[in-house]
Amino acid sequence: MANEVCFQNLHLKEPWTLSTYASTGGYDMLRKVLQTPVSPEDIINEVKKSALRGRGGAGFPTGLKWSFMPKGVGHPKYLLCNADEGEPGTCKDRDIMRYDPHRLIEGMAIAAYAIGANVGYIYIRGEFYEPWERVQNAIDEAYAAGFLGKNILGSDLSFDLYTHRGAGAYICGEETALIESLEGKKGQPRFKPPFPASYGLYGRPTTVNNVETLASVPDIIRHGGEWFLNLGKPNNGGTKLFSVTGHVNKPGNFEVPMGTPFRELLAMAGGVRDGRKLKAVIPGGSSTPMVPGEVMMEVNMDYDSISKAGSMLGAGSVIVMDETTCIVQAAERMARFYYDESCGQCTPCREGTGWLYRILRRIESGQGTEADLELLLNLGNNIEGRTICALGDAAVAPVASSIKHFRAEYEHHIKHGRCLVA
Ligand code: NAD
Ligand code: SF4
Repeated sequence: MANEVCFQNLHLKEPWTLSTYASTGGYDMLRKVLQTPVSPEDIINEVKKSALRGRGGAGFPTGLKWSFMPKGVGHPKYLLCNADEGEPGTCKDRDIMRYDPHRLIEGMAIAAYAIGANVGYIYIRGEFYEPWERVQNAIDEAYAAGFLGKNILGSDLSFDLYTHRGAGAYICGEETALIESLEGKKGQPRFKPPFPASYGLYGRPTTVNNVETLASVPDIIRHGGEWFLNLGKPNNGGTKLFSVTGHVNKPGNFEVPMGTPFRELLAMAGGVRDGRKLKAVIPGGSSTPMVPGEVMMEVNMDYDSISKAGSMLGAGSVIVMDETTCIVQAAERMARFYYDESCGQCTPCREGTGWLYRILRRIESGQGTEADLELLLNLGNNIEGRTICALGDAAVAPVASSIKHFRAEYEHHIKHGRCLVA
């Protein structure tokens, strides 16, 4: 499809090899940046102009984040790629690593030059064996071709890049838990501030970016920030990879311009399965609030539009639920996930996620009481904003939003001891 950025080479034969990537102009932008040369500030300004926002979920402006890296501070300085893709519903970074790992590596080398980093790590979700293998092979090829290592392409840039495999903890996708884990410690989030740019890996200046974010960089340099911005909308530049899962006929990853209507994306995924009615959508992964289907049909897929609809674009993990879904059961499943994955550091999250799960379990199994709904909401209020990292808020999002939009279903469970839709 025209205007693809991260997935543009997926139709090629063995797109993960250096020879295929180079045949499409791969590493030409790294060469241009280092040999012209273009200044680090020029690159950061181009990325700012592109309105590229962090594709891991938070949507923080990438150019601004890069500009936080202190200047005049010696090495080591780190660039970390967060490839611990663990948000329920998302699987798009996996496909960049499987099919176009050199795009990520070139993006990282350019980013390293822009922020002054000399060492990089790609922290890859442990379950992603094939993507890890492809990325590691690509790193080996890039070293052999002189695109990584000392004095890259004869320039002053030296950048060493390593992969690190996680061990299956969702929380290690939180950037400071990722840093702790890389340091060999238990993966538990740190308080922010200080943000990683001032105190990151081993206490050194560090930037953490998502895979899709970094893989977008070579094309921003190739075509310019304005080109990328114009692929999307003001403040929401570029294209976005959406993982569409759940009750659709053709689940998969789709790259579309920011601002594409949800109904078009749903059609790309084959529509709701078996022609059933759309009930609800989680637009950005399980950490983002649920939106009723009829509302979602009028929403465009960009940060600002989804936020106006009361949710978040998140990592672009679109979970579609049809009319046969028991919303209480869906909320219970997600609550169980966060209960399992809480790192246990803060009391509201450690204890609260367990409470949320147990109360939802009670309601779902027909043992709920009328007081349970208020108890759930009250519990949510006492978790939100009172924890070290975003996992506490994330655990509350599916519960609070499902009660807000589908309260009658909860009440039916409580009153009749069984599901409204079954
Ligand atoms: P955040 O808003 O705290 O931070 C986003 C980024 O901006 C971080 O890199 C942070 O260091 C930087 N930043 C923010 N404010 C800053 C400041 N004032 N100065 C310097 N840097 C600053 O969000 P977060 O906790 O990193 O991420 C939460 C999001 O992650 C959620 O919205 C969720 O959608 C997403 N998520 C994604 C996955 C996944 O698998 N992709 C998994 C879990 C959660
Ligand atoms: Fe750990 Fe939960 Fe606290 Fe995050 S909010 S630091 S996951 S206990």
